[in-house]
Amino acid sequence: MCTDCNDTNAPRADRRQFLGLAAMLAGGAALSLTAGRALADECAPFLADAQAATTPDQAIQLLADGNARFAANASLHCDLLGEMKATAEKQTPFACVLACIDSRSAPELVFDQQIGDLFVARVAGNLPTTEVLGSFEYATKVAGTKAIVVLGHSHCGAVKGAVDKADVGANLTTLLDAIEPAIAATPLTGERSSKNHEFVEAVAETNVRMAVAAMTANSPVLADLVAAGALKIVGALYDIETGKVSFLA
Ligand SMILES: [Zn+2]
Repeated sequence: MCTDCNDTNAPRADRRQFLGLAAMLAGGAALSLTAGRALADECAPFLADAQAATTPDQAIQLLADGNARFAANASLHCDLLGEMKATAEKQTPFACVLACIDSRSAPELVFDQQIGDLFVARVAGNLPTTEVLGSFEYATKVAGTKAIVVLGHSHCGAVKGAVDKADVGANLTTLLDAIEPAIAATPLTGERSSKNHEFVEAVAETNVRMAVAAMTANSPVLADLVAAGALKIVGALYDIETGKVSFLA
C-alpha cells in the first residue's frame, strides 16, 4: 500500500530491489510478484526492471488485484506527478487495455493503476480497429507490455445503439455496424432491442470475445508474441453497478 507517497526514495528502491530479485528467480513462480508488490510500495513507478520481471499471467493478476482494490473502495492515492517525472525519460507499462469511451469505464481507475502502468486505447464499443491494433503492436513489440485486456462493460450505449440499429450519422452508423457481427453471433431470446437487457449484455460479451480473437487474427505481430508466450490477450467485462471486472475464460 502507499504508506507515504511523497517519500521518493526508500519505497521505490525497495520495490525495485524486490522486482530485481523476482527476475533472478527463474519464472518467478516461487515468489509471487503480486504478493511482493503488496508488501512493497504499490505507488512506485513501474520501471524497466519491473516490466522485465513481470510475466503475462502476473500482468493480468496485477490488473485483477487493482480492480479488487477499486471495487472495495480501497484505491491507492499515489504521487502521480512524481510517477510522471520518474517515467518521463522512458515508459515501460506492463499492460494494454482496450476499453469503451464510456465515462464510467476508465481503465486506470477501474484497475487502480498509476501513471506509467498502462497503455490505453478507447473507442465506443471497445472495437479493435486498425489504429488500435497498430497502437498495441507498438505497445507490445516495441515497448514490451506483457498483456492486453479487451474491457467491455454492462449497460454499453454502443452495444444498445447497435442492437437498435441507431442511425444518427454516417460515422456513428459505421461504428455501430462493426458491432453487428457480435449481434448476429449471439443467440436471441426475446425482442431485439436495447430494452432486452439480457440480450444487450450477451452481445457485449460476444463483442469482447470477437475483439480478442481479432487481435491475433488481424495482427501477425500480436499472434507471434502470443505464440512465443511473451503476451497474453484476454477479454473482460466490467460491471458498472458493482465496479467489479470479470475476466473471461
Ligand atoms: Zn460502452
